[in-house]
Amino acid sequence: MSLKVRILGADSIGVRSMATIVEVEDYKILIDPGVSFAPRRYGLPPHPLELERLEDVKESIREELEDSDIVIITHYHYDHYLYREEDVNLYKGKILLVKNPRDNINVSQRLRAHRFLVKNRVAELAKRVMYIDSNWIQVGDSIVIRGSPPMPHGSDGTRLGYVIIVSVEHHGYIFMHASDVQGPISGRALEWILQHRPTILLISGPPTYFAGYKVSEEEVIQGLRNLETIAQRLDATVIVDHHMARDLKYLEYLEKLRRQAKGRVVSAFEYMGAPYEPLEALRKQLWEEKPPDSDRALRG
Ligand SMILES: [Zn+2]
Repeated sequence: MSLKVRILGADSIGVRSMATIVEVEDYKILIDPGVSFAPRRYGLPPHPLELERLEDVKESIREELEDSDIVIITHYHYDHYLYREEDVNLYKGKILLVKNPRDNINVSQRLRAHRFLVKNRVAELAKRVMYIDSNWIQVGDSIVIRGSPPMPHGSDGTRLGYVIIVSVEHHGYIFMHASDVQGPISGRALEWILQHRPTILLISGPPTYFAGYKVSEEEVIQGLRNLETIAQRLDATVIVDHHMARDLKYLEYLEKLRRQAKGRVVSAFEYMGAPYEPLEALRKQLWEEKPPDSDRALRG
């Protein structure tokens, strides 16, 4: 395979992230260089293990960012880009392909994008900034990086705004990164993915842990159905993670998908050969095993 894909952070590996490195020809492309944790889950704050993992992943993102030629940001949620002032210099000299910060964007993301690109001067520090919405760029001899039209962050009309599905194409191989489409729930996102026939797809599965709470059950079911369609129709490696890996029943859903898949369905931890450590989903257990006053032991 002419493309090498490495996942730096994922929910099945203990952090909220879809940070991914694509190495192709002599280029290193970093997609969504961000990582975060859920401030509350089961009414509990993050466990010290989650904070530790977050720092580890953040450090590896920083190192890779420093070493990358091209950085892609699919949308302005904090698990998808490093935004703090102490990190903005890492974007210096990079080719930056970002979600358009003004069109098809909700208010909170527009403000974050402005703070990042303008106030913190990332647009100035970068070698070049290009909006990737409905756009493409050729890099090197035969690499094409393509951005989809803005796709809903979940269901059509959601107030969470839009994300861009990006793909890196090289001699017929296509790596596609579909962040936060949540299934996809949207039929438009499903169409785009099927039409562009990725060889490897990394996708955020439906937020089954939210069903009937922040996302309606019908929407989650739609996301599951669309994900099944992708598994059935694409002869590809489909890596499903992120929202879906926050559910303790995640592996059961994957197993079901696997039984109907035309290609291969895996989790990010399996793809990377890492242990299964969905720390956010396990938060309640972690706190029960190691209550707050014993965190000295963890650090020591
Ligand atoms: Zn996300």
